[in-house]
Amino acid sequence: MILIWGFRARAKAVSMGEFFCTRCGVDRSYVLQQIRRWFTFFFIPLFPVGKPLGEQVKCSTCGTSFAREVLSTPTSATFSENLRGAVRFAAVSMLDAGDRSNEAARSAAIDAARGAGAESYDDTWLTNDLGALDFSQLGEYVTPLAQGLNLQGKETFIEQVARIGLADGPLSPSETLVLESLSATLGLSAAHLRGIVNSTTTPQLPSAGDGPPDEHRQN
Ligand SMILES: [Zn+2]
Repeated sequence: MILIWGFRARAKAVSMGEFFCTRCGVDRSYVLQQIRRWFTFFFIPLFPVGKPLGEQVKCSTCGTSFAREVLSTPTSATFSENLRGAVRFAAVSMLDAGDRSNEAARSAAIDAARGAGAESYDDTWLTNDLGALDFSQLGEYVTPLAQGLNLQGKETFIEQVARIGLADGPLSPSETLVLESLSATLGLSAAHLRGIVNSTTTPQLPSAGDGPPDEHRQN
């Protein structure tokens, strides 16, 4: 009788959860698997041999396997939450650095927070934030975005905050400091920041449809 024996790698589920699958492009559930070598006899695995060979994170939807490090990337749900918190924190910090009571600046700050997903954000909430937030923590809120935001996202972020600072007139030294610290945290250069601020202050040229009515045209 011929005895057929051998070894085979088998994956065993050790935990499950939610992660951001880069193949699917959205949050998915995953299974974290441990891979071990098994002794097989007549193709039937009998017992594991030696130490675990490694671990893999497997997307439950597309089946792609990733290294464990993929779990350190925030899910899009977590990322949106981080972004919402950071925009609001930065908006309030900018308002605090300028004229807190300026109507236009307050409404720009409210717009920024709402635009980032805090839809019910209003003036009362803003007043609360002004009294409650510890502005020295701004960096901690913004740091996670440096990895997750693309260049355009970073520019939009800075632009929104700059708009708040510019609403009550030219940027004051303390408002400039807030912008400088934000863009440094996001990895943007000082020149890049100047470019963003300049494009925020330069009025957009009216498009053809926005031109003056005919009766005001000079011939
Ligand atoms: Zn997937």
